[in-house]
Amino acid sequence: MIYKNFQDIKLSALGFGTMRLPVDASGQIDQAEVDKMIDYAMANGINYYDTAYPYMNSKSEISVGKALSRYPRESYYLADKYPGHQNTKGASVLDPKAVFEDQLEKCGVEYFDFYLMHNINENSLRFYCGEDTSYFDYFLEQKRNGRIKHLGFSCHADMPGLKQFMEMFGEHMEFCQIQLNYLDWTLQKAKEKVEYLNSLNMPIWVMEPVRGGKLSKLGEAYESRMRELRPEESTSAWAFRWLQTVPQPTVVLSGMTYYPQVVDNIKTFSEEKPLNEEEIAILYDAADKFAKLVPCTACRYCCDGCPAGLDIPNLISLHNDLLMGYNVNIPIRYGAFDDDKRADSCIGCGQCTNACPQSIKVPEVLADFAEKMSKLDDWDSICRTRNAIAAEMLAKK
Ligand code: SF4
Ligand code: SF4
Repeated sequence: MIYKNFQDIKLSALGFGTMRLPVDASGQIDQAEVDKMIDYAMANGINYYDTAYPYMNSKSEISVGKALSRYPRESYYLADKYPGHQNTKGASVLDPKAVFEDQLEKCGVEYFDFYLMHNINENSLRFYCGEDTSYFDYFLEQKRNGRIKHLGFSCHADMPGLKQFMEMFGEHMEFCQIQLNYLDWTLQKAKEKVEYLNSLNMPIWVMEPVRGGKLSKLGEAYESRMRELRPEESTSAWAFRWLQTVPQPTVVLSGMTYYPQVVDNIKTFSEEKPLNEEEIAILYDAADKFAKLVPCTACRYCCDGCPAGLDIPNLISLHNDLLMGYNVNIPIRYGAFDDDKRADSCIGCGQCTNACPQSIKVPEVLADFAEKMSKLDDWDSICRTRNAIAAEMLAKK
């Protein structure tokens, strides 16, 4: 495992993100699998674990806490976050003391090694940098009390938002977590953010290095070329190798869902093997293709508050697949959504856009998707067939 210096400690360059933990057939977190993945991570040098209040329907903290409780407290670093502006549980979420005490209890720890103001973006800035910043005083007090060892923030905001937060709280911030990958290098101006943060000597943590898995599948045309050049490396590994060409990242967080993913990631982080120019050119070419897609990372922050109960990231994912080219499985997959859970059930209330760290105009995307789907002849016939089969089955009951 590669380690990076941070103040007087050494952090594993690969951090274990817990936003996409494995689930069992009933949709509950598969704790045995989480334990197994974390056992492998601990045995192979990962010492940084990252959770947050809203992850996995607010159950990630409990799961990670359980898995790590089997290890001495000083053998790992645990990061958690204050959800300053999230729609997970209504107004009470904003009470910093209630949230913080709850988080310590859920994780089963006495302190957090790293604690972040979560998801600074154009919407949440109204809260974080608003008139009442007493929430921040509370966290400073926890730091003085030793219940927070290091304070930082995660930021999805554009440059002006990042600067606004830094101007207000930068003197207390010890690190900044940004979305950084070869697609967002230009798409979300990550290059500018890296340069700005490096100019302030602010350590950088990386989130979404493979963009919620999107950059782990580039299609056969790209992947066959990549296999020729680096037969031993996965497509995800290429995204991490690209990061090794960027100056300064400290911890790279990967939200891991499968045991083989943990094994592959740890193999990648066993040594530095940055991409060369020819290899980087392949990724940038692929990124051009992705740039037209809706930049959803499947974080699901928008889902809890959707009055129509839509599975927004999955609808957007299907929409993106359609943008990449028609495939017969698209209408089939769309047909698998209940009639009242498809894109045309969006009522345009806009709460999702407010919650979205990527500032995606979800109602517009869904309206566009619904219109495109309504024009697909075979979607219509598949839908009719499906409804006919359902009616037949009901009649038989
Ligand atoms: S705008 Fe549509 S998708 Fe977004 S929360 Fe409202 S109903 Fe749900
Ligand atoms: S639309 Fe935005 S908030 Fe919703 S899952 Fe995608 S990135 Fe997350």
